[in-house]
Amino acid sequence: MMHVITSARVGDLFGTYWESGHVVLEGDRIARAGPGPAPDVPGAEVLDAGGRLVTPGLVNAHAHLYSALARGIPLRRFDPTSFREILEQLWWKLDRALDLDGVYHSGVVGALGHLRAGVTALFDHHASPTAIEGSLSQLKRALSEVGLRADLCYEVTDRGGESERDEGIAENVRFAREGRVPGFFSAHMGLHASFTLSDETLGRARAAAEELGLGYHVHLAEGKEDPIDALQKHGVRTAERLDRFGVLGEGSLLVHGIQLSGAEVEFLAARGGTVVHNPRSNMNNAVGVAPVPAMLAKGIRVALGTDGFGSDLLTEALTARLLAHHASGDPTSLPDPQLLALLRENYNLAERAFGVPMGKIAPGFAADVVVWDYVPPTPVDAGSLLSHLLFGSISEGIRPRTVLVAGVPRFRDGVVTGLDERAALAAAAQAARALWGRI
Ligand SMILES: [Zn+2]
Repeated sequence: MMHVITSARVGDLFGTYWESGHVVLEGDRIARAGPGPAPDVPGAEVLDAGGRLVTPGLVNAHAHLYSALARGIPLRRFDPTSFREILEQLWWKLDRALDLDGVYHSGVVGALGHLRAGVTALFDHHASPTAIEGSLSQLKRALSEVGLRADLCYEVTDRGGESERDEGIAENVRFAREGRVPGFFSAHMGLHASFTLSDETLGRARAAAEELGLGYHVHLAEGKEDPIDALQKHGVRTAERLDRFGVLGEGSLLVHGIQLSGAEVEFLAARGGTVVHNPRSNMNNAVGVAPVPAMLAKGIRVALGTDGFGSDLLTEALTARLLAHHASGDPTSLPDPQLLALLRENYNLAERAFGVPMGKIAPGFAADVVVWDYVPPTPVDAGSLLSHLLFGSISEGIRPRTVLVAGVPRFRDGVVTGLDERAALAAAAQAARALWGRI
């Protein structure tokens, strides 16, 4: 399949911008791109961008698709006084009520949200403790229908007892063995967080992960519960405790990294895992501020995720900056080079997971391309493209008009192509009603 995008403002976040350019997509890769009119490519379908902005698709480094059916949920009681009580009063009730049908529909709704936000690849962290076996395949089915690339895992935890724990490990192993598809589906070993994992559980998860060569996807020091629990039960802080089980190394996603000591930050730098920052979720849960500039200064890789709090990576990126300004009292903190380092790491993660270079408009890179419904009101160049995306997202709510994933149009002129969106949303609303009735 070949597509030629013409009459486009073409750019990426890493030095490319043509005020009037074209992109030729061949199979799952960009074949060529450049300024000026498109070459004549026999057999190719032409997409006229009409002067709109065209960039690579975005990547979400930490998602919870299962949270998609929580929108508007009525809760008899919601008066949490701690992060743990937020989990107990909302998320641990919701995930326990999910059956495989609910998992599938949450996957569809979550995937559609990502597609409509220009995200073409995501790293999901899933929990459905009464429907564990096969749950990752239900997410895969939903993501395949919508047409996104995804890295999946099941969150192993002790909160439901030994049999649920063992089923969780087994689901990660099953999916890693049977579910991976080069270029489209990859896997991690999912772990909830240190404070719900015993040494025995971490040992079992480690044995399974090492046999399959899987990195870990784990919440790290999100609330105060994590370091307090690690100190009380194990005599060390969270990062040092998880390090005893080899969790912090390259290939692992260490989500949040808020309640960390200076020594732990040094520790993470030495191990090589990627910290994933989720500023909007952190603000919503009132768990504190991750020391992102300090982590970057130590050479820690930091990526950006949404933690299930929407799927709009552009607003997430702008919020990362706003939170850094607010927390530090310094209106120059998290400047463009640092924010770009986060977005670059998202693409690096996707490249490692899916085996395709991502994030640039250049030959050989993934044919994951977004035509944004955005004609800039002010001049653009390579250095200001990030500002256009960030402030376009906050002031005009810029959204994709067309999205191609691996060279296939999955969203075209405002219409989802892989499934009947209206019918899918109606079915999901029915599944949500059933789900809420079980809580
Ligand atoms: Zn999370």
